Amino acid sequence: MSGFGTLDDWVARTIGTAHLPIREDVEAYQLRCLNETMAYARSHSPFYRSQEGWPESHTLGQLADIARLPLTTSADLVRGDPSLIALPMRDAVRLVTIPTSGTSGQQKRLFFTEADIEAIVAYFEHGMATIVRPGSSVAVAFPAQRPDSVGDLLMRGLSRFGALPVALPLDGSLDTMVGALRELQPVAIAGMPVTLGAAARRMATDGGPPLRIETALVSADSVSPSFKAALAVIWGTEVFEHWGMTETGYGGALACEAHDGLHIRETDLYLEVIDAKSGEVLPTGQTGEVVVTTLRRRGLPLIRYRTGDRGCMIETRCRCGSVLRRLRLGGRMDEPIISGKGGGLPAETIDDAIFSVEGVIDFSVELRTGRHARLSIDIVADDPWTTEAVRSALLSHPIAGPLLQSEKINIAVKLASGSPFSLCRKRRVTMMRGEE
Ligand SMILES: [Zn+2]
Repeated sequence: MSGFGTLDDWVARTIGTAHLPIREDVEAYQLRCLNETMAYARSHSPFYRSQEGWPESHTLGQLADIARLPLTTSADLVRGDPSLIALPMRDAVRLVTIPTSGTSGQQKRLFFTEADIEAIVAYFEHGMATIVRPGSSVAVAFPAQRPDSVGDLLMRGLSRFGALPVALPLDGSLDTMVGALRELQPVAIAGMPVTLGAAARRMATDGGPPLRIETALVSADSVSPSFKAALAVIWGTEVFEHWGMTETGYGGALACEAHDGLHIRETDLYLEVIDAKSGEVLPTGQTGEVVVTTLRRRGLPLIRYRTGDRGCMIETRCRCGSVLRRLRLGGRMDEPIISGKGGGLPAETIDDAIFSVEGVIDFSVELRTGRHARLSIDIVADDPWTTEAVRSALLSHPIAGPLLQSEKINIAVKLASGSPFSLCRKRRVTMMRGEE
């Protein structure tokens, strides 16, 4: 893949350099934005005004000094009192509530202004232009019905450089979506791994005409090798990983043609990697929790927000030539889900093992810990023998197999009846605590 540029021209225009930016330009811009964000947050947001531990002077001399500021967490967003919001509610063009992963029904609340939304659309426009050509039809498998939803913002970004986005139907059955894809014959597709993986696997087994999709943008905190391999085989697709969450303003970091880490959206975000226990900033190259600070956000600025995602910064310059720093992601912080004498088993390893079985279209996993530890897997597949293949794949997996056996974890695989899963979701292992 070649012929696409990097984001650096756009970065130059955004940060205001007359030449292609060098690292010093990006860092001077980030320091300026950071100091503005700190002063703004302290004067406008009740939360930051009341937050303790801020340095006396709100002007930092260098980016690394950000480590002197306290960290913020999703609990601060859930509590919402004092509020992180820095403008009157009437200035919001979009309020987003995100359910937290716990069972408490609590929600994180975020708040975007018109200018915040514009920054998101601009990033989508210029980011997508590095992997999709003008005139290409692009299937969008994110929710796009509501104005300013992630799918809507992505479609607006794509339209700006002349790509032709079409929203896929996500609320019906998988076959409805697959039918829409065959009709559309897109050059590119964007969505979550679960959505795209299910569509590709269904197409491989349903006897319909094959489809070639050159490019896929996949948004997740980690994308398994078996997923990438399946899309390459079934659609002939080059998979570009993207990382982001509502808190980062959807966009966060995007792979380039070198596929060696994801270039960070440094026009809008400053990222750190910390030791999750001590809170200390880790040196480049060491893996820890990704912490994000928004640089231009006005509705609800986030300063040193713990994302819960695991990753590390890459030191070397990318082969694509971009000045933007890169992040290598590695799943969520709350892993491993199983720990034993032989090490830990991250959820993404289970994901990789199960999806490597060809007949698997979709699945969900539940782990019950305690005396009768049990890994229950519901799979969507056309062939009933797939259940046995999934069991074997887990037991013969070099990491998962020995651990599941040494910890005496019972594996139960069954076919899911009907199509019980939503097409647009993150795949996570549900943890249940059994009797001890
Ligand atoms: Zn690159």
